[in-house]
Amino acid sequence: MRFNLVLMGPPGCGKGTQAIRLARRFSIPHISTGDILRQAVRDGSPLGREVGALLATGALVSDTLITSLVQDRLTKPDVSHGFILDGFPRTLAQAQRLGGMLPDDAPLVVALIAVPEEEIVRRLSSRRLCESCRITQSVSDASDPDSESCPYCGGRLVRREDDEASTVRRRLATYAAEAEPVLSYYRQRQGFVGIDGLQPPERVTTALFAEIARQTT
Ligand code: AMP
Repeated sequence: MRFNLVLMGPPGCGKGTQAIRLARRFSIPHISTGDILRQAVRDGSPLGREVGALLATGALVSDTLITSLVQDRLTKPDVSHGFILDGFPRTLAQAQRLGGMLPDDAPLVVALIAVPEEEIVRRLSSRRLCESCRITQSVSDASDPDSESCPYCGGRLVRREDDEASTVRRRLATYAAEAEPVLSYYRQRQGFVGIDGLQPPERVTTALFAEIARQTT
């Protein structure tokens, strides 16, 4: 069963967690454009220097830049058995460009993990990134942000710069404005599936597996 997957949903809907599980299950790469850009900023590469200031504001980088970054990534040999895109496409122009990059012999599944806005704001305010192993995780509402450590490696947990409240609101507004044309584009196409993201993460995973199986058999 070979397929390519686009995971969609607002920031904080659980895309990253689900993408990691799906990538393991199907042994295909998880390509997160946000992770690639944040890594470039940390590395201080030319790309990182170009997008660093923009990333901190929560605004989108240009279609041209992100599309060529994805196009380049999809030439790597590890995508030959399929791939999972997380964070791309974010605009109609990106969705149209992606159409031209896909192989003919593997279906595209587009899965929307739907979560209401109030729940997103609650989730993002409790999201932390481990400075050492870089795994994103939740802390309890009552936790002290300065005393939490990573349950995986003991590293220090920090709030991602773009999870600050004002940036979250901007990201949600940007997401709502940008996502609708992309969703309308894919809703009319075969391979689009909607998943209830309010379910526990394990159930979201099960629903994704079932939908992928249904779309690819
Ligand atoms: P994410 O982790 O997916 O929320 O992405 C973090 C940031 O990276 C976004 O706020 C944008 O600045 C940038 N970014 C990631 N993917 C895209 C994309 N497909 N188009 C434009 N900007 C993007």
